[in-house]
Amino acid sequence: MRCACPRCGKGPLFAGFLDVRDACPACGLDLRRHDSGDGPAVFLIFLLGFVVVPPALLISLRVDWPLWLHAIVWSVVILGATVGLIRPVKALTVAIQYRYRRSELEPS
Ligand SMILES: [Zn+2]
Repeated sequence: MRCACPRCGKGPLFAGFLDVRDACPACGLDLRRHDSGDGPAVFLIFLLGFVVVPPALLISLRVDWPLWLHAIVWSVVILGATVGLIRPVKALTVAIQYRYRRSELEPS
């Protein structure tokens, strides 16, 4: 969740916003073969669906907002949460792959 190397926890995992480095600069772990695929997006779809939809429904039942205001508010909330969480969630999927499928990242 700290967006750091799954083995040493010291080297930064990302070279750009979502580009995983080829190797950890601290311990040299080869990260080129990681494959998080659609995992981070799927995690966020489920997480934000459970976290954002109930408050949105409650507010729509209790407050008489126009539809355009709902569209703006919930779009900003969902986009902000997605941009804020996609890096830690991607780092989490790389760490889970390292933990449970280490042979694919670290051939011995
Ligand atoms: Zn490392």
